[in-house]
Amino acid sequence: MSNLPTDPHHDGHHDCHHDHIENSCEFQGLTVNSGVKQPPSVNPYMTRRKKRTLPSASALVEGILKGDVTMLSRAVTMVESLSPDHQAVAQEVIEKCLPYSGNSRRIGITGVPGAGKSTSIDVFGLHVLKTPGSKLAVLAIDPSSERTKGSILGDKTRMERLSIHPDAFIRPSPSAGSLGGVARKTRETIVLCEAAGYNNIFVETVGVGQSETAVHSMVDFFLLIQLAGTGDELQGIKRGIMEMADGIVINKADGDNIDRARLAQAQFRSALQLFPPTPSGWKPEVLTYSGYFELGIPEVWDMIDRYFTFARENGYFDIKRHQQSRYWMYETIDEQLRNNFYNDTEVASRLIRCERDVLNNRRSSFTAAKEVLDFYFSAMSQKQRPI
Ligand code: GDP
Repeated sequence: MSNLPTDPHHDGHHDCHHDHIENSCEFQGLTVNSGVKQPPSVNPYMTRRKKRTLPSASALVEGILKGDVTMLSRAVTMVESLSPDHQAVAQEVIEKCLPYSGNSRRIGITGVPGAGKSTSIDVFGLHVLKTPGSKLAVLAIDPSSERTKGSILGDKTRMERLSIHPDAFIRPSPSAGSLGGVARKTRETIVLCEAAGYNNIFVETVGVGQSETAVHSMVDFFLLIQLAGTGDELQGIKRGIMEMADGIVINKADGDNIDRARLAQAQFRSALQLFPPTPSGWKPEVLTYSGYFELGIPEVWDMIDRYFTFARENGYFDIKRHQQSRYWMYETIDEQLRNNFYNDTEVASRLIRCERDVLNNRRSSFTAAKEVLDFYFSAMSQKQRPI
């Protein structure tokens, strides 16, 4: 900028375009308007805005029990937060909501990307909400969100009609932490949603890996959405996921695809016969439907209704919920222990050294592990505080 010719008439005043430096005789191009003076702040009211105060646990609980969506959302944000202050409030809220939770049908929905989960959840959700007194929360567990720091599963924009329904609450996957951590937050969110009166909970995930196990451990019914016409119908989905399914539904049974969907249905039915009996005694069913054209939706829902009647009558519904509570207790303990151990800076530096020794064959894996653990336990006992 230093070699720009200076305008002798330029007095630093910007109100008139003649005064702009490029409007001097050395510049032959278009005249330049110096524009408007910028205000000191983009939003002058910004400074007046008060910092949002942390709502108390009792205020949140009161709001949640009244079905106040804003308070529910704020409480879920606290559940998802990594801040110890927020976590302390969140845990108190969960504890207080627990007596009001449990009264819902928790349904896990999985399928590979493109299987039609969002289209189907939109339609299934509207179907469920036709029953008077129904409310629906759609939550998600997205393992990829750890990497992308954001989740699209459960995103409102994917469920157009449901997202504007007054009785639906949609929340994308929590994004921070390990899969176990993310799943635990979703499970805690279920408690809050139930306390807020949501008597149907959908938990969505992508049918490609570990996250199904996490979802399975928090739902009563596990629905697997499959596609027909992709050659070998059993490809692309792990056998373990099929074993978890209480219902397999083949989507996009419309137009030219109907016959292929029926063929896939027959293949899945015969594949399921080779599987061991389910712990509930329920025989998983295979149905075809079209989420897009809304065909076969009541039939899918009728199957789910029948499952709930079956599982409630034979007592499996309660058994499974008890097993899940126990599972989450131990999962939480495991997670906290692991975090406490690996977040310790002394432990971390010892781990680096021990790992190097092990890789250089200077010592065995077991003595290296013992050294770090011994250090950790003795440090813990010296601190004389619970882990
Ligand atoms: P997701 O990735 O599992 O959530 O799948 P989407 O719901 O986004 O659907 C993927 C694509 O399949 C979209 O282009 C949908 O319009 C289409 N789709 C979903 N359901 C159906 C269906 O029942 N029939 C047909 N023909 N297409 C569908």
